[in-house]
This record gives sequence, C-alpha cells and structure tokens, in this order.
Amino acid sequence: MTDCIFCEIAAGRIPTDKVYEDDRVLAFRDINPKAAVHLLVIPRQHVASLDELDGSHDELIAHLVRVLPRLARDQGLETGYRTIINTGAGGGQEVFHLHAHLMGGSDLPGF
Ligand code: 5GP
Ligand code: ZN
Repeated sequence: MTDCIFCEIAAGRIPTDKVYEDDRVLAFRDINPKAAVHLLVIPRQHVASLDELDGSHDELIAHLVRVLPRLARDQGLETGYRTIINTGAGGGQEVFHLHAHLMGGSDLPGF
C-alpha cells in the first residue's frame, strides 16, 4: 500500500469504474460525479500536481492530453466537453496525484 489513493487505483488494489487504460495512463469514473460524464485521467506514475512537472514528463503529459479527446468521443460527448486540472489546495486540489477531470453531458454545471 502507498498513501496515495490514485496510486492504489492504478495498481488495482482499490477497485474503480475503469473506462480506459494503457501503459502510461488510466481513466476511471469520478466517485462523486459533477456531470453526466465525469472521468478522471491520471498518469500511472505518481506525480503530485502540475507543480512537479519537468522536462522528463513531457511525453507522458502529451500522451495524457491526447487521450482526453479520444475518451470524450468514446463517451459520446459529440458537442464538447470540459477538462479541469486543479493544482494545490488554493486551486481546489484534494487528491495529490495529478489528474485531469473530463466532464460533459446534459447536466454540465455552469462555470
Ligand atoms: P480534485 O479536487 O483533487 O481535483 O479532485 C479529486 C476528485 O477525485 C474528486 O472529484 C473526487 O470525487 C474524486 N475521488 C476521490 N477519491 C476517489 C476514489 O477513491 N475513487 C474515485 N473514483 N474518485 C475519487
Ligand atoms: Zn499517486
């Protein structure tokens, strides 16, 4: 066990509603969805937040971002979708393993 819940999910030690995975990233449904479709997309590798990124992560982050529109398409979000990355306590980050929220559907809240 680690003390990072998303590392535990990535390792398969905590069950989750997984919708996509490959060798570098994983996508699963948010446990407390704020929209009809609300996925979290995470790197398998533990990175706490955007603040931790350096050049060694460039390929990983590019891949993660490229996965987002594919997932949105797969989820039927034809007219568009919202992506959010919260960073730090002041940015509303609650889980300190980098993740992109992918949200969409009819009940997408206002921003
Ligand atoms: P943050 O506020 O850090 O950007 O977002 C963390 C998100 O993770 C929240 O939307 C919360 O509902 C979700 N979350 C927290 N713990 C779990 C969990 O154990 N499983 C899943 N699927 N989502 C989680
Ligand atoms: Zn982690």
